[in-house]
Amino acid sequence: MADRMEPILPGSYLGILGGGQLGRMFTQAAQAMGYKVCVLDPGSDSPAGSIAEKFIQADYIDSAALKEMAALCSSVSTEFENVPAQALDELEALGVFVAPRSSCVSLAQNRIAEKKFLATWKSETNIGPAPYFVIEHDADIAHVPVDLFPGILKTARMGYDGKGQVTVYSPSELTTAWNELGRVSCVLEKRMELDFEVSALVVRGHDDAVVAYPVSQNIHRDGILHTSTVPAPSLKPAQEKKIVDAAKALIRKIEYVGVLCVEFFVLKNGDIVANEIAPRPHNSGHYTMDACVTGQFEQQVRAMARLPLGDTRQLAPVSMLNLLGDLWFEGSEDKAKEPAWNKVLAHPDAKLHLYGKSAPRIGRKMGHINCLGEALNEARQNCSAVAIELG
Ligand code: ADP
Ligand code: MG
Repeated sequence: MADRMEPILPGSYLGILGGGQLGRMFTQAAQAMGYKVCVLDPGSDSPAGSIAEKFIQADYIDSAALKEMAALCSSVSTEFENVPAQALDELEALGVFVAPRSSCVSLAQNRIAEKKFLATWKSETNIGPAPYFVIEHDADIAHVPVDLFPGILKTARMGYDGKGQVTVYSPSELTTAWNELGRVSCVLEKRMELDFEVSALVVRGHDDAVVAYPVSQNIHRDGILHTSTVPAPSLKPAQEKKIVDAAKALIRKIEYVGVLCVEFFVLKNGDIVANEIAPRPHNSGHYTMDACVTGQFEQQVRAMARLPLGDTRQLAPVSMLNLLGDLWFEGSEDKAKEPAWNKVLAHPDAKLHLYGKSAPRIGRKMGHINCLGEALNEARQNCSAVAIELG
């Protein structure tokens, strides 16, 4: 087994669990630095697997596949939080440097553990979660504090892009919603009066070095991220400092190695609430790829290879526009069109990233565009102009 403190140098294999767009951009960053990449994903149609030096198509808990990965890779990371903790533990037991480790990933897999964690460390981070109540049995519903209504019922597991969430206004609606969600473990969260949403992106190296990126301000549409703008137009400097300090305290607390995203709500009354954590590079951090000295995927490579972390300095204001499959259709999926790339690229500040997915679908993340500008307003205007070109 290699020394656990030694850097893993270019030329070596790095492993990634999950072969979607995050795995693909990780692979591209690793390859740009001279690494080879091994992707493990159960699906045959894998944006990351199609460009990696080695693609293992197997279940995440397939022991033979994990052994094959461990034989090749000194270090493995994950591109999504729902990879079974068992897979990470097995790799760790095989001597692989797993970053982030399974306890950190598990925390983000379950909203109950996540909220409890955020509430527990409020005294250190100064920012806690929205008021919530855990619902695991029918009888729990009778004990829900009335001041949690209107609330949002969220499944404890497997929620993403607003899926597995229902807004409820009363205990009877809560009962109906809980039944609709399949009576699985849930969290009822008080619906907060949001002014805007932001996310912090922090990175920790194996040596406890921690760096933070500028906070992004995020706009969602139908539960899916639409734009991320940096610097966050509505955020006051004191709020940004409080958010970054909280995210840095969290990443140290859990001894996390790699890129971590923490989502926050800024409320109408100016208060800040911690929403959720994502144990990986995040959609709201794609802006770093063109607007910062070091992109978030390169940073993930550096952290898992036990290299010094890169500079997070922002070089230009930016607004990132997500590209969903909807752009490939005229309203419905039976009327296909090709997005006007030539018009988009006529904007010299627009940096196009497409994920190489085989088929567009409504709501599917197909790519993103980072729109830069000399000033924040110019970046935002470029982003609006590009969005209009795309229709
Ligand atoms: P997901 O895992 O789907 O991203 P989130 O918990 O981040 O789940 O919720 C998705 C979106 O729903 C948030 O970005 C926010 O816009 C809205 N939302 C979630 N929780 C609350 C809340 N307690 N109050 C108000 N809005 C919320
Ligand atoms: Mg979220």
